[in-house]
Amino acid sequence: MQNWVTCHQYVVWMTPSRTTPPRPVDIAAAFPELAAYRRTATRLHPRPGDPGPGDSSVGGPLLWPADEPWPTCETFHKGEVTTEGVRLRRRILAQAWGRTRRGESLVLSEQEQADLERADATPTDEDDAKANPMPLMALAQLYARDVPGLTCPERMDLLQVLWCPHDHDEHDLYLPAVHLRWRRASDVTAVLADQPEPAVVEYDDYVPEPCMLHPEVVTEYQDVELLPQDLRKRIEDWEQAAGHDYQKELSLTTGWRVGGFASWSLSGPQPMICECGRDMKPLLTIDTCEWESPYWRPVEEPDYPSGEFESLAKPNMPTEIVISRGYALYVFICPDSFDHPLRFTMQ
Ligand SMILES: [Zn+2]
Ligand SMILES: [Zn+2]
Repeated sequence: MQNWVTCHQYVVWMTPSRTTPPRPVDIAAAFPELAAYRRTATRLHPRPGDPGPGDSSVGGPLLWPADEPWPTCETFHKGEVTTEGVRLRRRILAQAWGRTRRGESLVLSEQEQADLERADATPTDEDDAKANPMPLMALAQLYARDVPGLTCPERMDLLQVLWCPHDHDEHDLYLPAVHLRWRRASDVTAVLADQPEPAVVEYDDYVPEPCMLHPEVVTEYQDVELLPQDLRKRIEDWEQAAGHDYQKELSLTTGWRVGGFASWSLSGPQPMICECGRDMKPLLTIDTCEWESPYWRPVEEPDYPSGEFESLAKPNMPTEIVISRGYALYVFICPDSFDHPLRFTMQ
């Protein structure tokens, strides 16, 4: 454990510009023993923006040293769509919806229809050949100064997350392969310009929209299925009487986040044990939706889009990343060593 340092001792606490609504009831007051099943998490609240390499971001440029090779995937991939096509499609549709009054149908010009067809074209064998070996895609970077609770290796203060935007048959998941890099930001004196990215991807859902982050520290309580049987039973009885839902309203937050607990809503609880024997902890959650119910929608944001015109963007899906059918991908890390292999689950 001696090689660990808690980065948040250096953190400048910022006023979050996104705020999780207060819980409708203080569950820890009703069940003080939940103190043993409490952790903090940091909701990252990614929102569309124009991040630079000096910013914490999703889908922004990384603080990558100009003299360090960009990592590539070892697998040869054939793409379903070009990355350029994904961006072109989003741009055309954003413009078209943006001029469409609410309640009216979308009308595309001939030029836009032609551009959309071009955007959706399946990559040719030649495109695939040129696209491999596949550079990894920059997915996110987190500066410890911005993200309370992000624990970094000694002398490091920056986490960079890259992925290969093709389904990989690893960890019993068919999802993009996630790679982490830890750095000391001050080591990077010259930043790599024109950062590489994959020319073809498996799904448009794997191309992140550039987002700035608005980190907020929140409290989470353990997934109901991992509470002791007796406590769980008493909470269930209380739910009946009080008209609240522990799992949905009071325990686990939603959206991209650091720390906290994993939900096990899809598979039921699975042990996440490192090969060294330690219980692993969620490091990062890559979530499809920032919120699915008003319980977790920031108070600053409307519950439905307003204004005269339609919008392509879904307010609760700012990154455009979709994990399978709308799930979350959890990256687990060993508390003993940053060098032990990561584990993943999708829930
Ligand atoms: Zn790959
Ligand atoms: Zn370990």
